[in-house]
Amino acid sequence: MNLPPPICDSSLHDIRVLDGGMASELEYLGAHIDGPLWSAHVLEDAPEKILAVHSAYIAAGAQCIETASYQVSRMGYIECGLTAQRADVALLHSVSLARTAVSAFPGRQVLIAVSLGPYGAALHNGAEYHGNYDCTSEQLVAFHRERIEILAGLNGQEVLAFETLPSLAEARAIGEALSTWPDLPTWFSFTCRDARYVAHGELLRDCAAYVSTLPQTIAIGINCTQPSLILPLIHELRSTSTKPIVVYPNSGEGWDVQTRTWTGISDPVAYGVKAAEWFAAGAQMVGGCCRTRPAHIREVAEAAAQAESQSAPS
Ligand SMILES: [Zn+2]
Repeated sequence: MNLPPPICDSSLHDIRVLDGGMASELEYLGAHIDGPLWSAHVLEDAPEKILAVHSAYIAAGAQCIETASYQVSRMGYIECGLTAQRADVALLHSVSLARTAVSAFPGRQVLIAVSLGPYGAALHNGAEYHGNYDCTSEQLVAFHRERIEILAGLNGQEVLAFETLPSLAEARAIGEALSTWPDLPTWFSFTCRDARYVAHGELLRDCAAYVSTLPQTIAIGINCTQPSLILPLIHELRSTSTKPIVVYPNSGEGWDVQTRTWTGISDPVAYGVKAAEWFAAGAQMVGGCCRTRPAHIREVAEAAAQAESQSAPS
């Protein structure tokens, strides 16, 4: 069988709309995501719910969907008393579920991005939001390499999406882990604490400058960050890189550590207004992270259509 050519920077040219949050949407569908493996449990327990989330996002206008694999790793599975092999199977299963969902929309071109959380996500203690890990750099490289090795067999038909990255050190570890596979299309997306710095404290522009040098990088992004910070962060990325930019912030609600609840409001229409600003500032793809839903993505799709019509030659 002849495979289509691997995805590259220019494959993203017509893709403007990414999907929204997976875990919170699974919760709305009644799935239990409060275990240590978060939404990864659902891959084994209720795969039909993952299919339903993918389908809802494609129906809302997503041109790129992310697999439900953010928290799938050998380390995380072994800590839960499961085998490394089971983690590998789950990772590939998440890709086949996304492919199944896409195949139900025969008239649509939908790119699949394999969601790969940072080392901190596998620790399930919130460490991805500060990036101070208690591990050696060799361990960090090995953690990422184990998943890349499994996904290298996909022949570049899906994008590897390393996301919620808190630090330059973790981006460098992934760069090293990827070095055996220079042709694997990859995006790097960082979580930021303010309008200039990633969660661990390095300048976003320094992180972007580094990942731009990697042969695998087809896009650079920001996710799991307050939407109010996205506009200045896009300018930071633009100041240092010409790579396509992908942004998928949280809904705008805040997590209250004291009461362990979400606060504030999440208004899909307001999110769409912001998405229009992000497109105008140079974002290639816009989606959503925590607490965003298909209603947000519908508004993003509308903003994308407007951005296209404004840029079309008259
Ligand atoms: Zn998030």
